[in-house]
Amino acid sequence: MNDTYRHKGLRKKLIQSIIAKGIQDKRVIDALSILPRHYFMDKAFEEKAYEDKAFPIGSEQTISQPYTVAYQTELLEVKKRDKILEIGTGSGYQAAILALLGARVYTVERHLALHFRATKLLKSLGLEGIRTYHKDGYKGIPEFAPFDKILVTAAAEKIPPDLLYQLKPGGVLVVPVGKEVQYMKRLTKKSDGRFKEEILDRFKFVPFIKGLS
Ligand code: SAH
Repeated sequence: MNDTYRHKGLRKKLIQSIIAKGIQDKRVIDALSILPRHYFMDKAFEEKAYEDKAFPIGSEQTISQPYTVAYQTELLEVKKRDKILEIGTGSGYQAAILALLGARVYTVERHLALHFRATKLLKSLGLEGIRTYHKDGYKGIPEFAPFDKILVTAAAEKIPPDLLYQLKPGGVLVVPVGKEVQYMKRLTKKSDGRFKEEILDRFKFVPFIKGLS
């Protein structure tokens, strides 16, 4: 793996475009600036790694658009040592961003091939604090709950109740909800166990699918 001047230059431009689209959190911007996105993509798409677009990663899945990664990460308001559950490891890129922000990341993927590839890549990058699991994200990871934050990176038609259970009081769930298109939702768990719900911008994610593959 090689992060050349050319990659760095393209990445700088990408980051500027993300800032122009409204991302403000300096720590999120720094994490995206540091992490080479082309490491997480097939060689065939390497030239495109610094376009603000989603791209195929195999198993009919995509690495999310960088703006979307930045948007979801900003909404999570990640603090150092936060224990975060990510649903949909995919390429591992989002998990790596969370780890760079100092979070303890538990990430689950339903596709075995993607799980293996991301696990190997994240290990080779030497990023600390990421644990990967081949699991159905619908159920979360009860044995490691509760979590400070939960991030869903696939489109949910309905929010799985298990994920709501597995949040700490004060915890935050960020999830795109909807069928064809989704609205980003941020749910914050109150001390009485009820939720404050914010409905935000529109996005298009790959579907959240039950069961393993
Ligand atoms: N966060 C990823 C985005 C991947 S796209 C990245 O940074 O690259 C969403 C991923 O969610 C896909 O890989 C898909 O296989 C996975 N997914 C969908 N339903 C799931 C489920 N029930 N459990 C776990 N992962 C799921």
